[in-house]
Amino acid sequence: MKFRVEVVCISDSGRERRSNALEMERRQLAMETLGLNLCESKAMLESLQDFVITQQAAEDLEQRRCCPNCGDRHTVKGGGTTEVKTLFGAVEVANPRWNRCSCQQSGPKTFRPAAAWLRGRTTPELLYVENKWASLIPFAKVADLLHEVLPAHVDDETIRRHVQATAERMEEELGEERQLNLIQGEPIEQEELAPPDGPITVGIDGGYVRAAHKEGFFEVIAGRSVVAFRRAANEEVPESKCFGYVQTYDDKPRRRLFELMKSQGLRDNQQVVFMSDGGEDVRRVQTYLHPHSEHWIDWFPYGGIGSFRTKSSAKE
Ligand SMILES: [Zn+2]
Repeated sequence: MKFRVEVVCISDSGRERRSNALEMERRQLAMETLGLNLCESKAMLESLQDFVITQQAAEDLEQRRCCPNCGDRHTVKGGGTTEVKTLFGAVEVANPRWNRCSCQQSGPKTFRPAAAWLRGRTTPELLYVENKWASLIPFAKVADLLHEVLPAHVDDETIRRHVQATAERMEEELGEERQLNLIQGEPIEQEELAPPDGPITVGIDGGYVRAAHKEGFFEVIAGRSVVAFRRAANEEVPESKCFGYVQTYDDKPRRRLFELMKSQGLRDNQQVVFMSDGGEDVRRVQTYLHPHSEHWIDWFPYGGIGSFRTKSSAKE
């Protein structure tokens, strides 16, 4: 038998446009011929994505065609397309250049109407998957994996640039470095606060890593922050999050750790427990966190456990 997957675009006026997303044939039924295979699914997704994006771009251009001031149609200066990479393939998006309307006297004489929405050359969802996977496995493996399961066309160098750009943007968004008990606003009376989630335990340790080309070593501080339990179900925030930074390079370690714990729902009246091997550099980070809080350190032959409560009453 034969199968044909057809996609239909129905405009607001009811006009329909159709395109074949996939045609396939099946004869003898076997486990190998049961349903869609990976190759067919990729071809279908790519074809579907191309059609959907082409229709979206065409409709957007049509809506922008008339001058918002006088209603005249903009005349075309030149055609053109821009390649946009998506999870489901690279698509050439119509990106023409139009003349400025004759009713306008100032500003550039031509413009690209798609510039109103066409920002960047990669969809946010593809960037998200690239960044998420690249934080777990090497860039080249991410490119291989994406290519194997999806019609996404990306190479490891592009992924590396995207991750770098994302990291730089996150750095810019990170607030100023300061003592963590001074980051938030006015202290709130403990009685006003609802019971917090279970204690946050932060395991933290340091280790030396050899630099590239054998140019010495640098110290990496890495750790994991775990919320013991939650009072309300919250499936969106993982109970456990990891962090890491290079001690001599990072100038905002406290802020970074604070934002991580905040993203896990850290409250003023929540207990935080640090566990570390007691190394000098590692200890420095945790004492920075709440220098005026109650602080206990118990030393064991194999290492130390430091813990404190984030109590505003302990600030004297
Ligand atoms: Zn006009």
